[in-house]
Amino acid sequence: GPSKSEVLAVRQQYLTPGLITYYRDPLLLVEGHMQYLWDETGKRYLDAFAGIVTVSVGHCHPAIVKKVQEQVGKLQHVTTIYLHPTIGEFGKKLAEHFPKGSGLTQTYFTNSGSEANEIAILSAREFTGNQEVISLRNCYHGGTQATMALTAHSTWKFKTNPTINVKNALAPYCYRCPYGLEYPSCGLKCAKDVENVIKYETSGQVAAFIAESIQGVGGAVTPPPGYFEIVYDIVRKAGGLCIADEVQSGFGRTGDRFWGFENYGVTPDMVTMAKGIGNGAPLGACTTRPEIAAMMKNRIHFNTYGGNPISMTQGLATLEVIHNENIQQNAKTIGDHLKHRLLELQERHPLIGDVRGMGLMIGVELVRDRKSKEPANTEAADVMEKAKERGLIIGKGGLFGNTLRIKPPMCLNKDDADFLVDTLDEVLLELKR
Ligand code: PMP
Repeated sequence: GPSKSEVLAVRQQYLTPGLITYYRDPLLLVEGHMQYLWDETGKRYLDAFAGIVTVSVGHCHPAIVKKVQEQVGKLQHVTTIYLHPTIGEFGKKLAEHFPKGSGLTQTYFTNSGSEANEIAILSAREFTGNQEVISLRNCYHGGTQATMALTAHSTWKFKTNPTINVKNALAPYCYRCPYGLEYPSCGLKCAKDVENVIKYETSGQVAAFIAESIQGVGGAVTPPPGYFEIVYDIVRKAGGLCIADEVQSGFGRTGDRFWGFENYGVTPDMVTMAKGIGNGAPLGACTTRPEIAAMMKNRIHFNTYGGNPISMTQGLATLEVIHNENIQQNAKTIGDHLKHRLLELQERHPLIGDVRGMGLMIGVELVRDRKSKEPANTEAADVMEKAKERGLIIGKGGLFGNTLRIKPPMCLNKDDADFLVDTLDEVLLELKR
């Protein structure tokens, strides 16, 4: 194949400069198998970022490859103006994965998380007849017009940021509590901020509240127990629907529960998903209750590739692997082990300010000083570089770019987890010198 400098040169000459790469010397990846990736020199990496939390059960998982190859050779594309079996099969399977009695049965398939959130916001506004939407500071919901407006972080916005009526409430970010309080004596004051935002910054009647069950791009910000119960109540009283963005936190990622929201004992009116749903297929979805989906009845909304047989096959095959290989249980077991070991690491490395998350969705926030919590963003970048040299790929994000993000394919085993922590240990020791 072409050399790295050739690949880079062509990219710089012919692709938009809006594309960014990780690392000072970008990584060229040419092959993947399960939780491992290989570069053009044959060097192997443990992938603890999974193509941004997308390769949920392993790169080129053989069972999925086989099914998708069969489908590609049989029927690739017709659109939804004709019938084909896979879309209904997958819709049914998804519905079976929502809690009994939730009523979440009607799915609209898209090709991405942004599109899934677009359709959720459209549905909520049409259904309620209200305009305004509430999202949380530090959230990420996509890069399209409406979802960019939802996304509340300047990094992801443009000067001509589209104006839809979005107001942002405070993030339930315990490590940097906006009120300087501590859970549980805080009484979940941040949840009540949603009430204030609705009261003071909207007409009082909102279309929707949308939130990630655990903030992904925002750095594994994990709302405290009880948060969503209070917020959902407030939002529903203001006539709004509650949307759970499960693009990162769904499909067993949090270990204990299949969906992130289930960890909080709430039932959303709408759930959006992408990434882990298809193990790398361009696939997203929005699932809601029949009465909300019915707002589409006398309208037409069309998505050329949405629900195409190949993505559907890949989604179905991914779900099958999640069950056949006990993936959710593994996310729990290995995730707990990882977190336990990372907390040990925190005792020895003052740079580690916070370790948070659930299952295999973990954030490690680096700070220069534990008291002032000054974000250690250049240090986080150095950790990533040095980890890469040692064959470990991790991500970073967060409000200040100082949170390491660990979200591997959920087939990660204990040896991989130990390698991951040992590598971070070495790297942090080296940084001290
Ligand atoms: N929601 C969340 C929580 C995400 O993390 C992302 C992508 N990072 C999106 C939505 C948008 O998904 P996509 O990039 O597939 O449009």
